Amino acid sequence: MSNERTERPDAPTASNFIRNVIDEDNRNRKWAGRVETRFPPEPNGYLHIGHAKSICLNFGVARDYGGVCHLRLDDTNPEKESMEYVDSIVEAVRWLGYTWQQGDKNHLYFASDYYEKLYQFAEILIERGKAYVDSQSAEEMRVNRGSLTESGRASPFRSRTPAENLDLFRRMRAGEFAEGEHVLRAKIDMSSPNINMRDPVIYRIRFAHHYRTGDTWCVYPMYDYTHCISDAIEGITHSLCTLEFEDHRPLYDWVLDELAQAGEFKRPLPQQIEFARLNVTYAITSKRKLLQLVTENHVDGWDDPRMPTLVGLRRRGFTPGSIQLFCERIGVSKADSWIDMGVLEQSLRDDLDNVAPRATAVLDPLKLIVDNYPAGSEETCSAPVHPHHPERGSRTFPFSRELWIEREDFDEHPPKGYFRLFPGNKVRLRYGFVIECTGCDKDENGNVVAVHCNYFPDSKSGTEGSNNYKVKGNIHWVSATHAYEAEVRLYDRLFAEPQPDAGGRDYLTVLNPNSKRVVKAFLEPGAAVMNAEDHLQFERHGYFVADKIDSQPGKPVFNRIVSLKDSWGR
Ligand code: ATP
Ligand code: MG
Repeated sequence: MSNERTERPDAPTASNFIRNVIDEDNRNRKWAGRVETRFPPEPNGYLHIGHAKSICLNFGVARDYGGVCHLRLDDTNPEKESMEYVDSIVEAVRWLGYTWQQGDKNHLYFASDYYEKLYQFAEILIERGKAYVDSQSAEEMRVNRGSLTESGRASPFRSRTPAENLDLFRRMRAGEFAEGEHVLRAKIDMSSPNINMRDPVIYRIRFAHHYRTGDTWCVYPMYDYTHCISDAIEGITHSLCTLEFEDHRPLYDWVLDELAQAGEFKRPLPQQIEFARLNVTYAITSKRKLLQLVTENHVDGWDDPRMPTLVGLRRRGFTPGSIQLFCERIGVSKADSWIDMGVLEQSLRDDLDNVAPRATAVLDPLKLIVDNYPAGSEETCSAPVHPHHPERGSRTFPFSRELWIEREDFDEHPPKGYFRLFPGNKVRLRYGFVIECTGCDKDENGNVVAVHCNYFPDSKSGTEGSNNYKVKGNIHWVSATHAYEAEVRLYDRLFAEPQPDAGGRDYLTVLNPNSKRVVKAFLEPGAAVMNAEDHLQFERHGYFVADKIDSQPGKPVFNRIVSLKDSWGR
């Protein structure tokens, strides 16, 4: 069995308001046809399904317009960032199928590489009277910032001269002051209705070790100041970000405009465009909260198959193609909303249906004894590798006297309309023989421990005359002596509530206690050759993947990705 994946590099993409802006820019020759986007994660955690939306959007737009998307690590918070996170981000974006290589140019960037430039630009702003060192306490600054209904009040230090400010700022860099003693603020408008424009802090003192720059710096630039400048340095044309930054756009534009006036950047300047964040039901898309799940051991690490992280989704068995398809389906909009987890699951089914080889698995085994089949004998049955692709050939597996069937496929006293095994009823063993149930064995507690039947030798699937048997039930099975016994992990949604953290709820209180069930299952012998990350469909049960970490050669362990139908809540 081979593993085929549908990458979707050429998938058609629906138009959206962002593409409309780019089309308009192209018509006006604003960027001479150039399109450069960037995906700018902070390396303070693992990427999640929400980031996938941003990745597919940014890289997808660049691809479709013949441009390039940069991967930029936005690493200006020394305390929380690490190389482990950088590596995982790089790997996740690559796994999703995207590249930041264009020709021989590698567009992988780190905001921390711009520290010196960012610092020099700050000095330029100071010299031009556009930034000042403020020495109020954090509390005074907060109070003087005003509120939505109340204008801010100027700091007593707002009128420092450029020379004074430059001296103080240089001494801040030199480490002469304690954390919190001074900050550098942009000098904009303390009475602006937009609080982000009331002289925002652009530098603060932090005696923190940075995972890349070490102890070189003790002043660190703020996000709003760093981001727009990084975009401009890299020549980004369209800077796509989530809606919460809409109110920050005037600041983005202000910083770049000031530096353009100072001759540091050429126009046109990068344009920030906002789109809605992705929220997926039964999942959490906040790195901070995901970190809590990991550190408090509510899950088995970042790549726990129940996690909505990209490493978790990958380990669960989601394919890059399924995630890209999902992102296409949800589209891009200007209004925040919740997307049903079922949409992601359906994308996986749609991605794998056409490619995943089929196999048989009995997950809740019950012995079936074919009394009229000679003990010690066996014969071969065959089934298509894929029912819609006869060219992919067939797979074979043995039939013998003792088989495993699903416990739910037998009912001694069946309800009306039950077509599977019960005493006196005939069913077809899928790709095998028609059998008639003759009874069952029970233990002292009355539990059924084995079912008995007789088979009809002339009913074998694919042989002449086998269609003369008309039966309503068709159940799957594996030969007990030949089956591959494997651990199968049946995952379900991590949370029992569709919006686990809505309204400030403690999401830990709505963890689904049944989100992971491990069973010993009996699989068609051929399943033993599956390699780590190979996908298959166990007929009737859903899509599965050989676990990436725990599968050994010749000894795969399987994760259920999704069932065949959306049965949640039924
Ligand atoms: P978190 O709050 O989980 O830390 P973040 O937004 O701070 O998320 P970043 O690393 O700063 O995470 O995000 C990188 C990029 O991914 C940003 O452009 C951000 O807007 C985008 N992004 C993050 N979460 C989502 C989401 N849920 N939907 C769409 N885009 C997202
Ligand atoms: Mg962030």
